[in-house]
Amino acid sequence: MNTLIVYAHPEPRSFNAALREVAVDTLHGMGHAVVVSDLYAMGFAPVVGRADFLTQHNPERFNVSLEQRHAVAHGGLAPDIARELARLQAADLVILQFPLWWFGLPAILKGWIDRVFVSGVSYGRSTVFENGKFRGKRAMVCVTTGGPAQSFGPDALNGDILDLLMPLHRGVLGFTGMTVLPPFTCFHVPYEGDAARRQMLQAYRSRLGELDRLTPLPMPRTDQYPGLLVHGQRPCAQ
Ligand SMILES: Cc1cc2nc3c(=O)[nH]c(=O)nc-3n(C[C@H](O)[C@H](O)[C@H](O)COP(=O)(O)OP(=O)(O)OC[C@H]3O[C@@H](n4cnc5c(N)ncnc54)[C@H](O)[C@@H]3O)c2cc1C
Repeated sequence: MNTLIVYAHPEPRSFNAALREVAVDTLHGMGHAVVVSDLYAMGFAPVVGRADFLTQHNPERFNVSLEQRHAVAHGGLAPDIARELARLQAADLVILQFPLWWFGLPAILKGWIDRVFVSGVSYGRSTVFENGKFRGKRAMVCVTTGGPAQSFGPDALNGDILDLLMPLHRGVLGFTGMTVLPPFTCFHVPYEGDAARRQMLQAYRSRLGELDRLTPLPMPRTDQYPGLLVHGQRPCAQ
């Protein structure tokens, strides 16, 4: 099994880094190949722009999706995108490792998604969810929070962690056809003692050993919505 860990934390001694190391060690111990995309260490540029492309489809008007499709067809993706996309395509399991920032992803990870999940390779007009281009791959989020566990839940202050992660689970991973495993969440990380944090690392090790036994998160199927075009028709005037 090939695993890609996409890791988004600026501090090499962070707890997120410790979780990443647990994953690398555990998966190696299980005989898996592991590649880490350490976004801060790589200085990954997270902002979509013309520099994403060596080719140019329309110099008059910049349409990201159409430029992505054109670049894919003509070998025109910028080298950093091409490298990350190749890693994504080679992965059987994708782990996204990050701290919860403002109820969501650190911007560098959102930017990695914006730039690397290119149109035409990651999804097409009708190749989404159960027909998605990345079906057969599994994905799992490993996220840390500052808020305590009891502040997350359907009736709790911060809402349910699955609701906060829904744009990622459903809008990116499930949308592109991946089987989405339940997230591994470490709550209240900065405010716990070292012993409690070490238990979290041990629990993550155990979780990684039981990936095959996890029940994936439910995802919608496009055939439940007959007649609905996921992305509509091609935009006009292109
Ligand atoms: C911009 C921003 C927005 C945020 N938004 C939210 C939000 O919306 N909701 C929310 O709940 N929280 C939020 N937070 C808090 C954030 O989610 C937590 O601070 C973060 O998840 C903690 O993880 P970390 O890796 O950064 O911890 P760190 O601060 O790096 O580490 C925590 C502690 O663990 C220790 N540690 C490191 N390695 C180990 C190890 N191997 N064993 C034991 N201990 C170790 C560190 O020394 C440190 O004492 C936000 C924070 C920021 C900066």
